[in-house]
Amino acid sequence: MRGPHLVVLVGASGAGKSTWAARCFSPTEIVSTDRCRALVGDREEVQAYSKQAFELFYFLIAKRMELRKTIVADSTALDAGTRRKLLDLAHSHSYPAVAIVFPVSLDVRRKRNARRVRQVPDVVLVSQQAALEKARADIGREGWDTTHVLRLHEAETTVVVRLGADVRSSVAPPYDIVGDVHGCYDELTELLARLGWRRDGESWSHPEGRTLISLGDLADRGPDVPACFKLWIRLHAEGKALFVPGNHDNKLMRYLQGRQVNTTNGLAASIEQMDALPQPERSALQAAILQMVTEAPPYLMLDGGRLIVVHAGIKQEMIGKVSKSIQAFTLYGDVTGEKTPDGWPVRRDWAADYRGNAYIVYGHTPVPKPVPFRKTVNIDQGCVFGGRLTALRYPEIGFVHVRAGRTYHQGPLGSALAADDADTETNSG
Ligand code: ATP
Ligand code: MG
Repeated sequence: MRGPHLVVLVGASGAGKSTWAARCFSPTEIVSTDRCRALVGDREEVQAYSKQAFELFYFLIAKRMELRKTIVADSTALDAGTRRKLLDLAHSHSYPAVAIVFPVSLDVRRKRNARRVRQVPDVVLVSQQAALEKARADIGREGWDTTHVLRLHEAETTVVVRLGADVRSSVAPPYDIVGDVHGCYDELTELLARLGWRRDGESWSHPEGRTLISLGDLADRGPDVPACFKLWIRLHAEGKALFVPGNHDNKLMRYLQGRQVNTTNGLAASIEQMDALPQPERSALQAAILQMVTEAPPYLMLDGGRLIVVHAGIKQEMIGKVSKSIQAFTLYGDVTGEKTPDGWPVRRDWAADYRGNAYIVYGHTPVPKPVPFRKTVNIDQGCVFGGRLTALRYPEIGFVHVRAGRTYHQGPLGSALAADDADTETNSG
């Protein structure tokens, strides 16, 4: 479950802690000892104000914990006493505590320090290096919920959005995982019925207590996007469904947030269908879509990490982490930035290089059949393009399909998706 957490930055001066925090979190989420020095004594750099500054630092963190707010503790946290105190605060408020270590070399820090307005004396830079090594050695035994060592390329190029246990779900199998729905509501309800789900008033439930999982792209192109979202939002609220967003859901979310997006590639259909709803139903659905999509993790690790569900794909080294570039990969896949002659994005096949042990179920790029390949399987059979809507039953690894009522949108594979309509249920090792 997503929720508030304490993120503790651990690193020497000039490591880039404050820069990183400012890129990844909002200003009020960051509680910094330097800022506390300025608040109590007007000047950030005067170490003589540390006593009062630290008192304020812990006080602010405790107050934010009372209000269940996320906190980024921006200090060097190089001494064990500071880390202990922060961990104690987290534990006494039942907060997950995440330590982010910045293992930046003395050499790099000296160069950055030289370019800085507020320069730290070299003797301090040197002594901090030893403290950093000690912290790195100790931190695994200190009782953090998660520790994450930021590699240099991540600190330089990647903006880590949110960390913690968000992508790990404790919802146990069995699951029914559904590929890209794209507003194909009739096919969705037919598929649910085939999977053994039963209509239960306004809702649905499964006699075996299965959990329904969407790989994203409920939105755009198809005939009834609002009904698909309503169904998922209800089951999600009732604890019967999980959701990871697709690129179309992400774009619809940005549109609903009032941001500037182009309405091509099927978004216009979603907007038209939303606008046709009477008020206040439209407003309520808009709020619910925004909540579900914005709060959804970019991918989910399920069944103790044995299963990954993700919209477009994920590389082995990304599993367990969250960052802006990882989020983009999960939404769009390994895109080259080029387009095919028909205007579809050119994508590299990340699955061909996957060597991990976790089973990855994904969608996004329609293929005629769900062919498991090296512990990955693409279950987007292009329903909205006249293909099929597929579900994967896990842990059984059985595929259940329904055929599209018609072609709602011209797709990248033309009639190839509709050509093979043999079996409706298959099992595969
Ligand atoms: P302190 O503990 O002294 O507060 P800090 O770890 O918060 O240090 P920052 O203030 O974030 O460090 O960064 C120190 C300097 O290094 C700044 O001038 C910043 O612009 C620069 N810097 C930060 N991150 C990077 C980076 N990834 N690449 C290059 N320069 C960086
Ligand atoms: Mg700083």
